[in-house]
Amino acid sequence: MDNKGLWQAVLGELEVSLSRANFSTWFKNTGILGTQDGHIVVAVPNIFTKKWLEEKYQKDIQEALSKVHGEVKSVEFKVGDMGSEAAKGATTTATASDAAPQVGSPTKSQGASDNAFLNSRYTFNNFVVGSSNELAYAACQAVAKYPGDKYNPLFLYGGVGLGKTHLMQAVGNEIIKRNPNARVEYITSEGFTTAFVSSISRKKTGDFSGRFRGVDVLIIDDVQFFESKEKTQDEFFHTFNALHQANKQIILSCDRPPQAISGLEQRLLSRFSWGMTADIQPPDLETRSAILQSKAATHGVAVPSDVIEYLAANIKSNVRELEGALTQLIAHCELQGEEPNISAASGLLGHLSAKRARSGRLTARAVVEKVAGYYDLRPEDLTGPKRDKEIVVPRQIAMHIMRHELNLSFPKIAGALGGRDHTTAIHSVSKIDRQLETDETLRAEVGALRERIGF
Ligand code: ADP
Ligand code: MG
Repeated sequence: MDNKGLWQAVLGELEVSLSRANFSTWFKNTGILGTQDGHIVVAVPNIFTKKWLEEKYQKDIQEALSKVHGEVKSVEFKVGDMGSEAAKGATTTATASDAAPQVGSPTKSQGASDNAFLNSRYTFNNFVVGSSNELAYAACQAVAKYPGDKYNPLFLYGGVGLGKTHLMQAVGNEIIKRNPNARVEYITSEGFTTAFVSSISRKKTGDFSGRFRGVDVLIIDDVQFFESKEKTQDEFFHTFNALHQANKQIILSCDRPPQAISGLEQRLLSRFSWGMTADIQPPDLETRSAILQSKAATHGVAVPSDVIEYLAANIKSNVRELEGALTQLIAHCELQGEEPNISAASGLLGHLSAKRARSGRLTARAVVEKVAGYYDLRPEDLTGPKRDKEIVVPRQIAMHIMRHELNLSFPKIAGALGGRDHTTAIHSVSKIDRQLETDETLRAEVGALRERIGF
């Protein structure tokens, strides 16, 4: 049997025991690169697949190989292109039709507070303080210590990826840590709007008011999206007053200062400025280096200081990008079996700027096509009406990518997926957001997809 025939037979064995989505995700574009003395090298398309197969399927693959091939001593995975031959091999055999991976129910914070959709990863401890964010940090700490007392409301503003969500959630986490019975509600302004609108259509506005007026701490992220939503602003105005009068803490974030939000009612604007307003600026070079040091330590990887300085000097605007570049560098160097070094870092930066140029031109349509292709679906499946699980999850992932990578508004996202209701888009994006926290398979799939799309 030649390598191709051998791999076909192995895939045939594996297919039986795996769901179709898992199978086509992890075994597409794989093939056998070589076999020697019972040592088999399997080509995989990217590092995510490599890690995933090593962690989850090494044993199954080795067993299947032994069944078909006879004695197999070891299996090794290598990132490399098998070309269309192997791709065909995997797709033509991927015919099992069992269900796609289950989409679990949203996970809630481990805190006792029932409504706190907080991410425990965001703490004060792992937030690096520098002159660009020290005011916001200090204000958040004061609020965590004395909620409803010191600065109410606390209004944080600053550009994308500078740590607003991190800090607000750190306050929520800290408050729950100090008082496990505290009721902390974290929601985006869009989530608030959706909940409000749906309470009207279900004639349950009383429930809505009860939910938000009964909390100890209300955290509303990205209030710029309240812009021009008059009814929601009215409702929020009353919520605000009720909480404020009861000395309950309100924390708000925005991508710009309150005065700069157009389409915001004057009475709301004046309330936003009642308490404390703190801005977050892009971090300076020193803070960027410190952030990288701290993230490297979290990864448990020693990154030499010249490499840290090189990254910090070249990525200036946004902490999320800084973090992403470091993670990629570490993954790349692990794969190459080398220590993180300047030449790898400079290669990565060149690659990133090329990617950025490409993703600037990337359209929602391209995301639909790539996501569909990745899951062996047609673009029309994603934009069409079908609600099969195998289609719904990829559709939600496409929305997630459009939101986070293309920064599209929810109505635009809904439009790109065949003119769905925009609340579906809101729901889908936040569902995938939450699920990514706990679902490793999904994380790896989305990672592989982003890599393939070119982010
Ligand atoms: P924003 O809400 O302002 O867009 P985020 O809070 O989502 O930004 O931050 C983006 C990423 O950068 C997150 O992973 C966050 O943990 C990280 N981050 C931002 N600022 C810091 C900082 N000062 N120290 C450590 N991590 C940070
Ligand atoms: Mg944010």
